[in-house]
Amino acid sequence: MNQPLAAKPVPFIDIAAQRQRLGSRIDAAVARVLAHCQFINGPEVTALEAGLAAYTGARHVVACASGTDALLMVLMARGIGPGDAVLCPSFTFCATAEVVALLGATPVFVDVEPDTFNIDMASLARGLVKARALGRAPKAIIPVDLFGQSADHDAIAELAAREGLFVLDDACQGFGATYNGRRLGTFGLATATSFFPAKPLGCYGDGGAIFTDDDALAETLRSIRVHGQGGDKYDNVRLGLTARLDTVQAAVLIEKLAIFDDEIVARERAARRYAEGLADAVTVPRVAEGRTSVWAQYTIRLPAGRRDAFAAALRADGIPTAIYYPTPLHRQTAYRHYPVADGGLPVSEQLSAEVISLPMHAYLDETTQARVIKAVRGAVGK
Ligand SMILES: *Cc1c(COP(=O)(O)O)cnc(C)c1O
Repeated sequence: MNQPLAAKPVPFIDIAAQRQRLGSRIDAAVARVLAHCQFINGPEVTALEAGLAAYTGARHVVACASGTDALLMVLMARGIGPGDAVLCPSFTFCATAEVVALLGATPVFVDVEPDTFNIDMASLARGLVKARALGRAPKAIIPVDLFGQSADHDAIAELAAREGLFVLDDACQGFGATYNGRRLGTFGLATATSFFPAKPLGCYGDGGAIFTDDDALAETLRSIRVHGQGGDKYDNVRLGLTARLDTVQAAVLIEKLAIFDDEIVARERAARRYAEGLADAVTVPRVAEGRTSVWAQYTIRLPAGRRDAFAAALRADGIPTAIYYPTPLHRQTAYRHYPVADGGLPVSEQLSAEVISLPMHAYLDETTQARVIKAVRGAVGK
């Protein structure tokens, strides 16, 4: 036997390795917050917003409590509500559509491309026709930069301009990725991201941010973030939320942002090694021309029906896998009464039956990755 019986389990995402690398810098950053005690809207929040603005090139950054709040706040600021339709992919995390439904508007689900997993333009056009046929007023598109890869933002912007819609980019997985050399955060009316610990740029709890070049929108978002406050705290000019980012999380994120580019390079290197080791054995993801991915997930496809046995074989080798997403939103209990684009969403349904994600993070060393590749090849008999 050339492998020990119980080989050390491989982490799916290695948050501990990064914690070790940053070590005392994070401890010191958190200690500074514990010393100044400005736990809400402390100086680190403003510093982080400035750092994120410089990183993306966006004019305004509004830090907030989660990626979901980031999406929700933009829709609230634009007055989205009953009678409105918002188009979004079905093959995504539920929050993309949840924020639309929470406001009483109608999410209209559209399909994705089989190789990039991102919004399909033909289905998007059909979704628009469907929304109007149902008597809803289409107001916005929420494209998702799924698994870390930028969506086709030029094509989306062109359709949005032609149809009078605004674009809210859900970059909760894609923060740090580029489209034609430009970082996400600068496409559409606004961009939402999440700092949930497992995202490419994560904090040590919940967090998020909104990016926009629109001065008036930024001001409204800052008001919504604190219960719709006006000139002062007890002047309430609109409905809002408690949606601030904690100062402690901002302090953590400042340290993580400093090494983020280096981590993106490491993720890209790991993705390349997977592609080289697996392209002839399974369907590996494709990154479209002019785009990059920050590899929030490394998601392969297997023929339908093979996935359970495949996952079990890897688990036996100490290698975890995950399925994002086993059920497209239009088939979920909470969402199945909402409309879908004409022609249905066959790609979303097929992907849900075929996708499986492999361990992926910036600290995936070559030896560990070789072990994953060998296990994957073994499980598919290659
Ligand atoms: C994680 C995620 C969100 C929500 O972010 P939270 O910070 O968990 O609220 C929204 N959309 C997508 C695509 C996500 O992956």
